[in-house]
Amino acid sequence: MTKICSKSTFFNHSLTGFLFLLILLFFPGFINDIYSQSPFKIVIDAGHGGKDPGRPNKSGIKEKDIVLKIALDLGKKLENSGNEVIYTRKKDVFLTLRQRAKIANDFDADLFISIHCNAFHDSSVHGSETFVYGLHVSDANFNVAKKENEIIFLDGHYSDDNENYSPTSTESLIGTTLMQEEYLDQSILLASFVQKNFTKDLKIRNRGVKQSGFWVLHNTYMPSILIEAGFMTNPKEGAFLNSKKGQIGVSNSIYKAIEKYKKAINYSKTPIAISSNKEAVIYKVQIAAGKRRLELKPYNFNGLKKLSRIKDGALYKYFYSSSNSLDEIKMKKKYARLNGYGNAYIVGFKNGELFEVD
Ligand SMILES: [Zn+2]
Repeated sequence: MTKICSKSTFFNHSLTGFLFLLILLFFPGFINDIYSQSPFKIVIDAGHGGKDPGRPNKSGIKEKDIVLKIALDLGKKLENSGNEVIYTRKKDVFLTLRQRAKIANDFDADLFISIHCNAFHDSSVHGSETFVYGLHVSDANFNVAKKENEIIFLDGHYSDDNENYSPTSTESLIGTTLMQEEYLDQSILLASFVQKNFTKDLKIRNRGVKQSGFWVLHNTYMPSILIEAGFMTNPKEGAFLNSKKGQIGVSNSIYKAIEKYKKAINYSKTPIAISSNKEAVIYKVQIAAGKRRLELKPYNFNGLKKLSRIKDGALYKYFYSSSNSLDEIKMKKKYARLNGYGNAYIVGFKNGELFEVD
Protein backbone atom coordinates (compact mmCIF):
# COMPACT_ATOMS: atom_id res chain seq x y z
CA MET A 1 0.00 0.00 0.00
CA THR A 2 2.74 2.36 1.03
CA LYS A 3 4.63 1.48 -2.08
CA ILE A 4 1.74 2.25 -4.43
CA CYS A 5 1.17 5.59 -2.73
CA SER A 6 4.76 6.73 -3.06
CA LYS A 7 4.82 5.57 -6.66
CA SER A 8 1.77 7.64 -7.58
CA THR A 9 3.22 10.65 -5.74
CA PHE A 10 6.38 10.27 -7.75
CA PHE A 11 4.33 10.03 -10.93
CA ASN A 12 2.45 13.22 -10.07
CA HIS A 13 5.66 15.12 -9.37
CA SER A 14 7.35 14.00 -12.54
CA LEU A 15 4.22 14.83 -14.56
CA THR A 16 4.10 18.33 -13.07
CA GLY A 17 7.78 18.78 -13.83
CA PHE A 18 7.30 17.55 -17.37
CA LEU A 19 4.39 19.92 -17.97
CA PHE A 20 6.41 22.81 -16.58
CA LEU A 21 9.29 21.92 -18.88
CA LEU A 22 6.85 21.88 -21.83
CA ILE A 23 5.63 25.37 -20.89
CA LEU A 24 9.21 26.66 -20.74
CA LEU A 25 10.07 25.07 -24.09
CA PHE A 26 7.06 26.33 -25.99
CA PHE A 27 6.60 29.68 -24.34
CA PRO A 28 10.05 31.21 -23.95
CA GLY A 29 8.40 34.59 -23.31
CA PHE A 30 7.09 33.11 -20.09
CA ILE A 31 10.62 33.05 -18.71
CA ASN A 32 11.20 36.71 -19.55
CA ASP A 33 7.91 37.66 -18.00
CA ILE A 34 8.72 35.79 -14.83
CA TYR A 35 11.88 37.79 -14.43
CA SER A 36 10.46 41.13 -15.49
CA GLN A 37 10.68 42.40 -11.92
CA SER A 38 14.33 43.03 -11.17
CA PRO A 39 15.68 42.71 -7.63
CA PHE A 40 15.65 45.73 -5.37
CA LYS A 41 18.92 47.60 -5.86
CA ILE A 42 20.67 49.39 -3.04
CA VAL A 43 23.85 51.41 -3.07
CA ILE A 44 25.66 51.47 0.26
CA ASP A 45 28.04 54.34 0.68
CA ALA A 46 30.54 54.14 3.53
CA GLY A 47 31.49 57.78 4.05
CA HIS A 48 35.06 59.07 3.69
CA GLY A 49 38.02 56.65 3.21
CA GLY A 50 41.69 56.74 2.26
CA LYS A 51 43.23 60.17 2.79
CA ASP A 52 39.93 61.42 4.19
CA PRO A 53 39.50 59.90 7.69
CA GLY A 54 36.21 61.69 8.42
CA ARG A 55 35.38 63.61 11.57
CA PRO A 56 38.29 64.24 13.92
CA ASN A 57 37.93 63.23 17.56
CA LYS A 58 40.19 62.95 20.56
CA SER A 59 39.79 59.20 21.14
CA GLY A 60 41.67 58.34 17.96
CA ILE A 61 38.93 56.17 16.44
CA LYS A 62 38.33 56.88 12.79
CA GLU A 63 34.95 57.55 11.21
CA LYS A 64 36.06 55.98 7.92
CA ASP A 65 36.82 52.62 9.64
CA ILE A 66 33.62 52.45 11.66
CA VAL A 67 31.31 53.29 8.76
CA LEU A 68 33.02 50.79 6.46
CA LYS A 69 32.41 47.95 8.92
CA ILE A 70 28.75 48.96 9.28
CA ALA A 71 28.40 49.22 5.48
CA LEU A 72 29.88 45.77 4.80
CA ASP A 73 27.72 44.10 7.42
CA LEU A 74 24.60 45.86 6.15
CA GLY A 75 25.38 44.79 2.57
CA LYS A 76 25.78 41.16 3.60
CA LYS A 77 22.38 41.17 5.31
CA LEU A 78 20.71 42.77 2.31
CA GLU A 79 22.32 40.37 -0.17
CA ASN A 80 21.30 37.39 1.91
CA SER A 81 17.68 38.46 1.66
CA GLY A 82 17.70 38.73 -2.13
CA ASN A 83 18.57 42.38 -2.73
CA GLU A 84 21.20 43.55 -5.17
CA VAL A 85 23.88 45.60 -3.44
CA ILE A 86 26.64 47.82 -4.73
CA TYR A 87 29.18 49.43 -2.44
CA THR A 88 30.84 52.72 -3.26
CA ARG A 89 33.86 51.33 -1.43
CA LYS A 90 34.69 48.01 0.20
CA LYS A 91 38.15 49.03 1.31
CA ASP A 92 39.94 51.97 2.83
CA VAL A 93 40.12 54.01 -0.37
CA PHE A 94 39.41 57.62 -1.19
CA LEU A 95 36.44 58.45 -3.40
CA THR A 96 35.11 61.82 -4.43
CA LEU A 97 31.49 62.66 -3.74
CA ARG A 98 31.01 62.86 -7.48
CA GLN A 99 32.23 59.26 -7.89
CA ARG A 100 29.87 58.09 -5.16
CA ALA A 101 26.82 59.70 -6.79
CA LYS A 102 27.88 58.40 -10.21
CA ILE A 103 28.13 54.82 -8.93
CA ALA A 104 24.56 55.09 -7.60
CA ASN A 105 23.19 56.65 -10.79
CA ASP A 106 24.97 54.23 -13.15
CA PHE A 107 23.65 51.30 -11.14
CA ASP A 108 20.15 52.78 -11.45
CA ALA A 109 19.63 51.97 -7.79
CA ASP A 110 16.32 52.03 -5.94
CA LEU A 111 17.96 53.42 -2.81
CA PHE A 112 21.11 55.23 -1.80
CA ILE A 113 22.30 54.90 1.80
CA SER A 114 25.26 56.95 2.97
CA ILE A 115 26.64 56.02 6.39
CA HIS A 116 28.51 58.44 8.65
CA CYS A 117 29.25 59.14 12.31
CA ASN A 118 29.00 62.54 13.92
CA ALA A 119 31.39 64.66 15.97
CA PHE A 120 31.00 67.75 18.10
CA HIS A 121 33.26 69.82 20.36
CA ASP A 122 30.92 69.26 23.30
CA SER A 123 31.39 65.59 24.27
CA SER A 124 28.07 65.42 26.10
CA VAL A 125 26.18 65.65 22.79
CA HIS A 126 24.92 62.28 21.61
CA GLY A 127 22.26 60.63 19.47
CA SER A 128 21.62 59.78 15.84
CA GLU A 129 20.14 61.84 13.02
CA THR A 130 19.25 60.91 9.47
CA PHE A 131 19.31 63.44 6.68
CA VAL A 132 17.41 63.78 3.45
CA TYR A 133 18.25 66.38 0.88
CA GLY A 134 16.06 69.41 1.36
CA LEU A 135 15.50 73.07 0.85
CA HIS A 136 14.70 73.88 4.43
CA VAL A 137 18.25 74.23 5.56
CA SER A 138 18.57 75.36 9.14
CA ASP A 139 21.88 76.85 10.27
CA ALA A 140 22.75 73.84 12.42
CA ASN A 141 22.02 71.35 9.66
CA PHE A 142 23.82 73.51 7.17
CA ASN A 143 26.96 73.26 9.27
CA VAL A 144 26.78 69.46 9.32
CA ALA A 145 26.40 69.43 5.53
CA LYS A 146 29.22 71.91 5.14
CA LYS A 147 31.60 69.64 7.05
CA GLU A 148 30.68 66.58 4.99
CA ASN A 149 30.75 68.60 1.75
CA GLU A 150 34.21 69.99 2.33
CA ILE A 151 35.68 66.85 0.86
CA ILE A 152 34.79 68.13 -2.61
CA PHE A 153 37.59 70.65 -2.30
CA LEU A 154 40.08 67.96 -1.34
CA ASP A 155 40.06 66.37 -4.76
CA GLY A 156 39.76 69.62 -6.69
CA HIS A 157 37.31 68.18 -9.20
CA TYR A 158 34.34 70.17 -8.27
CA SER A 159 35.31 73.40 -10.00
CA ASP A 160 35.73 71.78 -13.44
CA ASP A 161 32.17 71.20 -14.47
CA ASN A 162 30.23 72.42 -11.55
CA GLU A 163 30.94 76.11 -11.54
CA ASN A 164 27.46 77.10 -10.41
CA TYR A 165 27.64 74.90 -7.41
CA SER A 166 29.68 75.97 -4.43
CA PRO A 167 29.23 73.26 -1.83
CA THR A 168 29.58 75.55 1.14
CA SER A 169 27.25 78.35 0.11
CA THR A 170 23.58 78.29 1.11
CA GLU A 171 22.48 79.97 -2.13
CA SER A 172 23.86 77.30 -4.39
CA LEU A 173 22.26 74.58 -2.31
CA ILE A 174 18.91 76.22 -2.92
CA GLY A 175 19.28 77.70 -6.37
CA THR A 176 19.65 74.58 -8.50
CA THR A 177 17.06 72.19 -9.87
CA LEU A 178 16.51 69.62 -7.24
CA MET A 179 16.15 66.09 -8.36
CA GLN A 180 16.02 64.98 -4.76
CA GLU A 181 12.84 66.98 -4.14
CA GLU A 182 11.08 64.44 -6.31
CA TYR A 183 12.05 61.65 -3.97
CA LEU A 184 11.60 63.55 -0.75
CA ASP A 185 8.57 61.62 0.55
CA GLN A 186 10.24 58.27 0.04
CA SER A 187 13.52 59.47 1.53
CA ILE A 188 11.78 60.84 4.63
CA LEU A 189 9.83 57.61 5.06
CA LEU A 190 12.99 55.51 5.07
CA ALA A 191 14.85 57.99 7.28
CA SER A 192 12.08 57.86 9.89
CA PHE A 193 12.18 54.04 9.94
CA VAL A 194 15.94 54.15 10.51
CA GLN A 195 15.65 56.66 13.33
CA LYS A 196 12.86 54.74 15.07
CA ASN A 197 14.82 51.47 14.91
CA PHE A 198 17.94 53.08 16.40
CA THR A 199 15.92 54.25 19.39
CA LYS A 200 13.92 51.05 19.79
CA ASP A 201 16.72 48.52 19.23
CA LEU A 202 19.82 50.35 20.44
CA LYS A 203 18.45 53.02 22.79
CA ILE A 204 20.26 55.70 20.81
CA ARG A 205 18.76 59.13 21.34
CA ASN A 206 16.60 60.16 18.37
CA ARG A 207 17.75 63.58 17.15
CA GLY A 208 15.30 63.32 14.28
CA VAL A 209 14.96 63.26 10.53
CA LYS A 210 16.47 66.41 9.09
CA GLN A 211 16.82 68.13 5.77
CA SER A 212 20.13 69.45 4.65
CA GLY A 213 22.25 70.16 1.62
CA PHE A 214 24.52 67.19 1.36
CA TRP A 215 26.18 67.25 -2.00
CA VAL A 216 26.12 63.48 -2.40
CA LEU A 217 22.36 63.36 -1.76
CA HIS A 218 21.74 66.26 -4.11
CA ASN A 219 23.28 64.40 -7.01
CA THR A 220 21.63 60.99 -6.77
CA TYR A 221 18.53 60.19 -8.82
CA MET A 222 16.76 57.95 -6.32
CA PRO A 223 15.45 58.09 -2.76
CA SER A 224 18.56 58.81 -0.69
CA ILE A 225 19.44 59.21 2.95
CA LEU A 226 22.55 60.07 4.93
CA ILE A 227 22.78 58.51 8.37
CA GLU A 228 24.82 60.04 11.18
CA ALA A 229 24.67 56.97 13.41
CA GLY A 230 25.89 58.69 16.58
CA PHE A 231 28.61 60.91 18.04
CA MET A 232 32.14 59.51 18.18
CA THR A 233 33.03 62.43 20.45
CA ASN A 234 30.68 61.19 23.17
CA PRO A 235 32.70 58.66 25.25
CA LYS A 236 29.87 56.16 25.70
CA GLU A 237 28.45 56.42 22.19
CA GLY A 238 31.89 56.52 20.60
CA ALA A 239 32.89 53.28 22.34
CA PHE A 240 29.62 51.67 21.26
CA LEU A 241 30.09 52.71 17.61
CA ASN A 242 33.65 51.44 17.71
CA SER A 243 32.59 48.01 19.03
CA LYS A 244 31.56 45.03 16.95
CA LYS A 245 28.32 44.81 18.91
CA GLY A 246 27.54 48.45 18.11
CA GLN A 247 28.37 48.16 14.43
CA ILE A 248 26.25 45.02 13.98
CA GLY A 249 23.44 46.65 15.95
CA VAL A 250 23.50 49.74 13.74
CA SER A 251 23.55 47.71 10.51
CA ASN A 252 20.73 45.53 11.77
CA SER A 253 18.54 48.55 12.50
CA ILE A 254 19.20 49.99 9.04
CA TYR A 255 18.55 46.61 7.43
CA LYS A 256 15.16 46.27 9.13
CA ALA A 257 14.26 49.83 8.12
CA ILE A 258 14.99 49.07 4.46
CA GLU A 259 12.85 45.93 4.50
CA LYS A 260 10.03 47.88 6.15
CA TYR A 261 10.39 50.63 3.54
CA LYS A 262 10.08 48.08 0.71
CA LYS A 263 6.81 46.87 2.21
CA ALA A 264 5.58 50.43 2.64
CA ILE A 265 6.11 51.32 -1.02
CA ASN A 266 4.54 47.99 -2.04
CA TYR A 267 7.70 46.72 -3.62
CA SER A 268 7.25 43.05 -4.36
CA LYS A 269 10.29 40.89 -4.89
CA THR A 270 7.99 38.10 -6.04
CA PRO A 271 8.22 38.20 -9.81
CA ILE A 272 5.00 38.43 -11.74
CA ALA A 273 4.30 36.35 -14.80
CA ILE A 274 2.11 38.42 -17.08
CA SER A 275 1.28 35.65 -19.50
CA SER A 276 0.37 33.13 -16.83
CA ASN A 277 -1.52 35.43 -14.51
CA LYS A 278 -4.40 37.27 -16.14
CA GLU A 279 -5.00 39.45 -13.09
CA ALA A 280 -1.42 40.72 -12.87
CA VAL A 281 -0.81 44.34 -13.84
CA ILE A 282 2.55 45.67 -14.89
CA TYR A 283 3.04 49.43 -14.93
CA LYS A 284 5.37 51.33 -17.21
CA VAL A 285 6.06 54.95 -18.07
CA GLN A 286 5.21 55.81 -21.66
CA ILE A 287 7.80 58.33 -22.78
CA ALA A 288 7.38 58.53 -26.55
CA ALA A 289 5.55 57.29 -29.63
CA GLY A 290 6.42 57.62 -33.29
CA LYS A 291 6.75 55.96 -36.68
CA ARG A 292 10.48 55.44 -36.36
CA ARG A 293 11.77 52.27 -34.82
CA LEU A 294 14.50 53.31 -32.41
CA GLU A 295 17.05 51.03 -30.82
CA LEU A 296 16.37 50.65 -27.12
CA LYS A 297 19.62 52.29 -26.08
CA PRO A 298 20.00 54.92 -23.34
CA TYR A 299 21.60 57.40 -25.81
CA ASN A 300 18.37 57.42 -27.82
CA PHE A 301 16.33 58.24 -24.72
CA ASN A 302 18.18 60.95 -22.81
CA GLY A 303 20.14 58.37 -20.85
CA LEU A 304 17.14 56.43 -19.54
CA LYS A 305 17.61 52.70 -19.07
CA LYS A 306 15.15 49.79 -18.66
CA LEU A 307 13.45 50.60 -21.97
CA SER A 308 10.82 48.62 -23.84
CA ARG A 309 8.78 49.08 -27.00
CA ILE A 310 5.59 47.79 -28.60
CA LYS A 311 4.15 48.27 -32.09
CA ASP A 312 0.62 49.62 -32.05
CA GLY A 313 -0.75 50.03 -35.58
CA ALA A 314 1.68 52.26 -37.45
CA LEU A 315 3.19 53.59 -34.24
CA TYR A 316 5.99 52.43 -32.04
CA LYS A 317 5.39 53.15 -28.40
CA TYR A 318 8.33 53.50 -26.07
CA PHE A 319 8.33 52.81 -22.36
CA TYR A 320 10.64 53.40 -19.48
CA SER A 321 10.89 51.10 -16.44
CA SER A 322 8.53 48.32 -15.43
CA SER A 323 7.05 47.36 -12.09
CA ASN A 324 4.02 45.89 -10.41
CA SER A 325 4.21 48.73 -7.89
CA LEU A 326 2.32 51.83 -8.95
CA ASP A 327 4.16 53.86 -6.29
CA GLU A 328 7.50 52.91 -7.74
CA ILE A 329 6.38 53.77 -11.27
CA LYS A 330 5.11 57.16 -10.09
CA MET A 331 8.68 57.94 -9.02
CA LYS A 332 9.99 56.73 -12.35
CA LYS A 333 7.52 59.01 -14.14
CA LYS A 334 8.89 61.99 -12.24
CA TYR A 335 12.39 60.95 -13.19
CA ALA A 336 11.44 60.61 -16.89
CA ARG A 337 9.79 64.05 -16.79
CA LEU A 338 12.93 65.57 -15.31
CA ASN A 339 14.96 63.97 -18.07
CA GLY A 340 13.25 65.66 -20.98
CA TYR A 341 10.01 63.68 -21.24
CA GLY A 342 7.69 66.37 -19.87
CA ASN A 343 4.57 64.57 -21.09
CA ALA A 344 5.49 61.11 -19.79
CA TYR A 345 2.56 59.25 -18.31
CA ILE A 346 1.85 55.91 -16.68
CA VAL A 347 0.33 52.99 -18.53
CA GLY A 348 -0.56 49.52 -17.34
CA PHE A 349 -0.54 46.17 -19.05
CA LYS A 350 -3.14 43.64 -18.06
CA ASN A 351 -3.67 40.42 -19.93
CA GLY A 352 -1.46 41.76 -22.72
CA GLU A 353 -3.65 44.87 -23.16
CA LEU A 354 -2.32 48.38 -22.68
CA PHE A 355 -4.40 50.88 -20.70
CA GLU A 356 -3.73 54.42 -19.55
CA VAL A 357 -3.39 55.05 -15.83
CA ASP A 358 -3.02 58.84 -15.74
ZN1 LIG B 1 31.12 61.76 7.72
